[in-house]
Amino acid sequence: MNIARLKSEPEIFYSLQGEGPRTGTPAVFLRLAGCNLHCSWCDTRYSWLSGCELSAAGVADRVLSYDCSSLVITGGEPLLQAADIEQLLALLPADMHVEIETNGTLPPTPALAERVNQWNVSPKLAHSGNSAEQAICPSALAAFVATGRAWFKFVVSSEEDWPAIAALNLPQQRIILMPCAATRADLTAARPAVAELCLQHRVRLGDRLHVVLWDDEKGK
Ligand code: SF4
Repeated sequence: MNIARLKSEPEIFYSLQGEGPRTGTPAVFLRLAGCNLHCSWCDTRYSWLSGCELSAAGVADRVLSYDCSSLVITGGEPLLQAADIEQLLALLPADMHVEIETNGTLPPTPALAERVNQWNVSPKLAHSGNSAEQAICPSALAAFVATGRAWFKFVVSSEEDWPAIAALNLPQQRIILMPCAATRADLTAARPAVAELCLQHRVRLGDRLHVVLWDDEKGK
Protein backbone atom coordinates (compact mmCIF):
# COMPACT_ATOMS: atom_id res chain seq x y z
CA MET A 1 0.00 0.00 0.00
CA ASN A 2 1.17 3.51 -0.68
CA ILE A 3 0.83 5.48 2.57
CA ALA A 4 1.15 9.28 2.76
CA ARG A 5 4.48 10.32 4.24
CA LEU A 6 4.50 12.83 7.09
CA LYS A 7 7.82 13.79 8.73
CA SER A 8 9.46 10.84 6.90
CA GLU A 9 7.03 8.36 8.49
CA PRO A 10 3.95 6.58 7.09
CA GLU A 11 0.93 8.55 8.30
CA ILE A 12 -0.77 6.09 10.64
CA PHE A 13 -1.76 7.66 13.94
CA TYR A 14 -4.22 7.59 16.82
CA SER A 15 -6.59 10.50 17.36
CA LEU A 16 -10.25 11.51 17.66
CA GLN A 17 -12.51 11.49 14.62
CA GLY A 18 -12.83 15.19 13.81
CA GLU A 19 -15.68 15.16 11.32
CA GLY A 20 -18.99 13.49 10.53
CA PRO A 21 -21.52 11.65 12.69
CA ARG A 22 -18.84 9.88 14.79
CA THR A 23 -17.07 13.10 15.73
CA GLY A 24 -15.13 12.64 18.96
CA THR A 25 -14.70 8.86 18.64
CA PRO A 26 -11.14 7.56 19.26
CA ALA A 27 -9.80 5.98 16.08
CA VAL A 28 -6.67 4.92 14.25
CA PHE A 29 -6.16 7.00 11.10
CA LEU A 30 -4.51 5.66 7.96
CA ARG A 31 -3.80 8.25 5.26
CA LEU A 32 -3.21 6.77 1.82
CA ALA A 33 -1.18 8.60 -0.81
CA GLY A 34 -2.42 9.84 -4.19
CA CYS A 35 -5.50 11.76 -5.25
CA ASN A 36 -7.38 12.06 -8.54
CA LEU A 37 -8.51 15.64 -7.71
CA HIS A 38 -6.50 18.77 -6.93
CA CYS A 39 -8.58 21.00 -4.68
CA SER A 40 -7.26 24.56 -4.42
CA TRP A 41 -7.73 24.56 -0.64
CA CYS A 42 -6.55 20.99 0.03
CA ASP A 43 -4.94 20.88 3.49
CA THR A 44 -3.10 17.60 2.78
CA ARG A 45 -1.34 18.40 -0.50
CA TYR A 46 1.61 16.28 0.60
CA SER A 47 -0.73 13.26 0.24
CA TRP A 48 -0.86 13.83 -3.54
CA LEU A 49 2.73 12.60 -3.78
CA SER A 50 3.84 9.01 -3.64
CA GLY A 51 4.56 8.11 0.00
CA CYS A 52 5.83 5.00 1.80
CA GLU A 53 5.24 1.50 0.46
CA LEU A 54 4.08 -0.93 3.16
CA SER A 55 2.54 -4.39 2.78
CA ALA A 56 -1.05 -4.88 3.92
CA ALA A 57 0.33 -7.04 6.75
CA GLY A 58 2.73 -4.28 7.77
CA VAL A 59 -0.11 -1.74 7.87
CA ALA A 60 -2.33 -4.16 9.82
CA ASP A 61 0.42 -4.60 12.45
CA ARG A 62 0.71 -0.85 12.93
CA VAL A 63 -3.08 -0.37 13.09
CA LEU A 64 -3.49 -3.18 15.66
CA SER A 65 -0.64 -1.82 17.80
CA TYR A 66 -2.94 0.99 18.97
CA ASP A 67 -5.44 -1.46 20.51
CA CYS A 68 -8.37 0.58 19.15
CA SER A 69 -11.57 -0.81 17.63
CA SER A 70 -12.14 1.98 15.10
CA LEU A 71 -10.24 2.69 11.88
CA VAL A 72 -10.59 5.71 9.58
CA ILE A 73 -9.01 5.36 6.14
CA THR A 74 -8.45 8.71 4.48
CA GLY A 75 -6.28 10.29 1.82
CA GLY A 76 -5.70 11.53 -0.78
CA GLU A 77 -8.34 9.39 -2.40
CA PRO A 78 -8.30 5.96 -0.70
CA LEU A 79 -10.36 4.18 -3.36
CA LEU A 80 -7.47 4.52 -5.81
CA GLN A 81 -6.08 1.64 -3.69
CA ALA A 82 -9.31 -0.31 -3.24
CA ALA A 83 -7.73 -3.74 -3.81
CA ASP A 84 -5.07 -3.04 -1.16
CA ILE A 85 -7.73 -1.86 1.29
CA GLU A 86 -9.62 -5.12 0.75
CA GLN A 87 -6.43 -7.04 1.63
CA LEU A 88 -5.87 -4.92 4.72
CA LEU A 89 -9.42 -5.30 6.02
CA ALA A 90 -9.21 -9.07 5.63
CA LEU A 91 -6.35 -8.97 8.18
CA LEU A 92 -8.22 -6.88 10.76
CA PRO A 93 -10.89 -8.04 13.24
CA ALA A 94 -14.30 -8.42 11.62
CA ASP A 95 -15.86 -6.26 14.33
CA MET A 96 -13.47 -3.33 13.86
CA HIS A 97 -15.49 -0.26 12.87
CA VAL A 98 -14.18 0.98 9.54
CA GLU A 99 -14.85 4.37 7.99
CA ILE A 100 -13.55 5.50 4.61
CA GLU A 101 -13.26 9.17 3.68
CA THR A 102 -13.63 9.59 -0.09
CA ASN A 103 -14.21 12.35 -2.61
CA GLY A 104 -16.98 10.24 -4.16
CA THR A 105 -15.58 10.00 -7.70
CA LEU A 106 -14.90 6.24 -7.58
CA PRO A 107 -17.61 3.74 -6.60
CA PRO A 108 -16.97 1.28 -3.76
CA THR A 109 -15.99 -2.22 -4.83
CA PRO A 110 -18.58 -4.87 -3.89
CA ALA A 111 -16.33 -6.24 -1.14
CA LEU A 112 -15.79 -2.80 0.40
CA ALA A 113 -19.49 -1.90 0.06
CA GLU A 114 -20.16 -5.01 2.15
CA ARG A 115 -17.45 -4.52 4.78
CA VAL A 116 -17.10 -0.79 5.40
CA ASN A 117 -19.33 0.44 8.23
CA GLN A 118 -19.47 4.08 7.23
CA TRP A 119 -18.68 6.06 4.08
CA ASN A 120 -17.83 9.72 4.54
CA VAL A 121 -18.32 10.98 0.99
CA SER A 122 -17.19 14.52 0.27
CA PRO A 123 -18.03 15.59 -3.31
CA LYS A 124 -16.14 18.70 -4.31
CA LEU A 125 -17.96 21.84 -5.51
CA ALA A 126 -16.88 24.50 -8.01
CA HIS A 127 -14.92 26.55 -5.45
CA SER A 128 -12.50 23.59 -5.11
CA GLY A 129 -11.12 24.47 -8.54
CA ASN A 130 -12.00 21.05 -10.01
CA SER A 131 -14.41 20.93 -12.95
CA ALA A 132 -17.81 19.28 -12.34
CA GLU A 133 -16.81 16.61 -14.90
CA GLN A 134 -13.79 15.71 -12.75
CA ALA A 135 -15.37 16.06 -9.33
CA ILE A 136 -18.93 14.77 -9.67
CA CYS A 137 -19.70 11.20 -10.74
CA PRO A 138 -23.47 10.58 -10.39
CA SER A 139 -23.17 6.80 -10.76
CA ALA A 140 -20.54 6.61 -8.01
CA LEU A 141 -22.67 8.79 -5.71
CA ALA A 142 -25.67 6.52 -6.40
CA ALA A 143 -23.54 3.50 -5.44
CA PHE A 144 -22.69 5.15 -2.10
CA VAL A 145 -26.36 5.97 -1.45
CA ALA A 146 -27.20 2.32 -2.18
CA THR A 147 -24.90 1.11 0.63
CA GLY A 148 -27.26 2.78 3.13
CA ARG A 149 -24.14 3.69 5.15
CA ALA A 150 -22.98 6.88 3.47
CA TRP A 151 -22.92 10.45 4.68
CA PHE A 152 -22.32 13.29 2.26
CA LYS A 153 -20.11 16.06 3.62
CA PHE A 154 -19.86 19.26 1.62
CA VAL A 155 -17.28 21.92 2.25
CA VAL A 156 -19.17 25.13 1.55
CA SER A 157 -17.97 28.67 1.21
CA SER A 158 -21.23 30.55 0.54
CA GLU A 159 -24.97 30.30 -0.11
CA GLU A 160 -24.13 30.04 -3.81
CA ASP A 161 -22.90 26.48 -3.20
CA TRP A 162 -26.37 25.17 -2.28
CA PRO A 163 -27.94 24.78 -5.79
CA ALA A 164 -25.11 22.44 -6.84
CA ILE A 165 -25.67 20.34 -3.70
CA ALA A 166 -29.46 20.23 -4.15
CA ALA A 167 -29.02 19.18 -7.80
CA LEU A 168 -27.37 15.92 -6.66
CA ASN A 169 -30.65 14.70 -5.08
CA LEU A 170 -28.94 13.02 -2.16
CA PRO A 171 -30.88 11.92 0.94
CA GLN A 172 -31.39 15.18 2.84
CA GLN A 173 -30.94 13.55 6.27
CA ARG A 174 -27.48 12.36 5.17
CA ILE A 175 -26.16 15.76 4.06
CA ILE A 176 -23.64 17.59 6.26
CA LEU A 177 -22.35 21.09 5.50
CA MET A 178 -18.91 22.06 6.79
CA PRO A 179 -17.11 25.41 6.77
CA CYS A 180 -14.18 25.80 4.37
CA ALA A 181 -11.50 26.36 7.02
CA ALA A 182 -8.20 24.72 7.89
CA THR A 183 -7.33 26.87 10.90
CA ARG A 184 -9.14 27.52 14.18
CA ALA A 185 -9.46 31.24 13.39
CA ASP A 186 -10.92 30.62 9.92
CA LEU A 187 -13.29 27.98 11.32
CA THR A 188 -14.59 30.33 14.01
CA ALA A 189 -15.17 33.04 11.41
CA ALA A 190 -16.87 30.78 8.84
CA ARG A 191 -19.06 28.65 11.14
CA PRO A 192 -21.99 31.11 11.73
CA ALA A 193 -22.78 31.54 8.01
CA VAL A 194 -22.74 27.77 7.45
CA ALA A 195 -25.00 27.28 10.49
CA GLU A 196 -27.52 29.67 8.90
CA LEU A 197 -27.33 27.71 5.66
CA CYS A 198 -28.03 24.47 7.55
CA LEU A 199 -31.07 26.01 9.27
CA GLN A 200 -32.38 27.32 5.97
CA HIS A 201 -32.07 23.99 4.14
CA ARG A 202 -32.70 21.65 7.12
CA VAL A 203 -29.42 19.75 6.94
CA ARG A 204 -26.74 19.03 9.54
CA LEU A 205 -23.88 21.31 10.45
CA GLY A 206 -20.54 19.55 10.52
CA ASP A 207 -17.74 20.92 12.63
CA ARG A 208 -14.02 20.12 12.49
CA LEU A 209 -13.12 18.96 15.98
CA HIS A 210 -9.46 18.34 15.11
CA VAL A 211 -9.14 21.97 13.97
CA VAL A 212 -10.91 23.21 17.13
CA LEU A 213 -8.52 21.13 19.27
CA TRP A 214 -5.24 21.26 17.37
CA ASP A 215 -5.60 24.09 14.84
CA ASP A 216 -3.76 23.16 11.62
CA GLU A 217 -1.29 20.72 13.15
CA LYS A 218 -0.78 17.65 10.93
CA GLY A 219 -0.84 14.04 12.14
CA LYS A 220 -3.52 14.81 14.75
S1 SF4 B 1 -10.12 15.31 -2.78
FE1 SF4 B 1 -9.34 15.60 -0.69
S2 SF4 B 1 -7.17 14.93 -0.75
FE2 SF4 B 1 -7.87 15.20 -2.88
S3 SF4 B 1 -7.23 17.27 -3.40
FE3 SF4 B 1 -9.36 17.40 -2.68
S4 SF4 B 1 -9.21 17.84 -0.48
FE4 SF4 B 1 -7.18 17.12 -1.15
